Amino acid sequence: MNCVVFYQQISNDLLIEGLQGQVIGEGMTIKVAINGYGTIGKRVADAVDAQDDMEIVGVTKTRPAFGCDLAVRKGYPIYCTFDEQERIDAFGKAGYECHGGLSDLLSVADIVVDCSPGKVGASNKEKYQSAGVKWIFQGGEKHAMTELSYTSSANHQENLNAQGTRVVSCNTTGLSRTLVPLYNHCGELSVECTMIRRAADPGDSNKGPINAIKPVLKVPSHHGPDVMTVKPQISINSMAVAVPTTIMHVHVIVATLPEGHGLTTDKVLSMWDSQPRIILMNGGETGITTTAEVMEFARDIGRKWGDLHEIFVWKDGVKLEGNTLYYFQAIHQESDVIPENVDAIRALMGVESDWNKSVSKTDLAISKYNNI
Ligand code: NAD
Repeated sequence: MNCVVFYQQISNDLLIEGLQGQVIGEGMTIKVAINGYGTIGKRVADAVDAQDDMEIVGVTKTRPAFGCDLAVRKGYPIYCTFDEQERIDAFGKAGYECHGGLSDLLSVADIVVDCSPGKVGASNKEKYQSAGVKWIFQGGEKHAMTELSYTSSANHQENLNAQGTRVVSCNTTGLSRTLVPLYNHCGELSVECTMIRRAADPGDSNKGPINAIKPVLKVPSHHGPDVMTVKPQISINSMAVAVPTTIMHVHVIVATLPEGHGLTTDKVLSMWDSQPRIILMNGGETGITTTAEVMEFARDIGRKWGDLHEIFVWKDGVKLEGNTLYYFQAIHQESDVIPENVDAIRALMGVESDWNKSVSKTDLAISKYNNI
């Protein structure tokens, strides 16, 4: 049965009650569907699989392509993105067991994480609504479509028990990680930033540029205003350029703090050090001075796929002069949003109202899952 539930702590974590009156006991898990098992989808699936309060009930593929092998190895039931029998049958012919179409998957799920390509997800919303499941879209969709956006540090509470949301893009997530604590300290913040964006993900063969620097000829770029969908109090504008690299984005950020902020460069660093999902390192001392070395570091510490869920800030690239804070940060575009999706599931299902507790639980479970 498809239980559209929100979970509410009743007494000492033993019973959880749902919107439609279902009561589920301790040990029962949130049933999560992944629609679109690509770059983001396969990572979210593993992050969910790592948690003890949720489980993957199925992942979709549009056709029996190579991503199906990973789903088989992981033991995730494969469903077809579409309900047409002919498309479902194509999986069997290619040697994969297909458990049905998207409607079949939604009928056994509490919540679906839509990881379809940008702007494609919107066409799936109606299906989720008519199936009565909760839904999470990714940053490639518009805030206007979801009417609610999410990032763990900015607005977990606002998303509690909502029917659906959008986990903001990798860049917006990265900006939020360092700017929200700064805003929380200062009570006011004005930001100008430039996004130096990777041209394509490592698995993409049809994107560019490969030999050019391509400015985003829309000013401001969507990144800054997107931060305001999760933290409207931060005044922020951004510009962006795409460069021929596949591994990370770099942000060049200039933030104006209000008079009397009471911060120094060291205090800003300590503030970020106390926040989850931010890594601070001195480039000069460690030799990690470029995104290539940041990614090598991620591989060295055993991160799956070489991912880095944290935002990487170069300590020696941070400087506060008067009221102006300058810094660089690097974003691993394929992975910083992954743990945020797990926290967003908890917010929507109403199982954890404290974003910090959710973040700790998510990150610890992922570390254990990957033996790191
Ligand atoms: P992707 O192309 O790697 O994966 C998308 C998957 O969805 C593919 O397996 C594709 O076959 C499948 N798909 C195609 N049509 C579909 C449909 N109608 N319904 C369901 N699935 C369908 O894309 P991605 O990079 O994983 O991006 C997914 C979303 O995450 C986008 O909104 C994107 O903007 C966002 N995002 C991507 C990144 C990144 O760096 N890749 C970072 C943050 C957010």
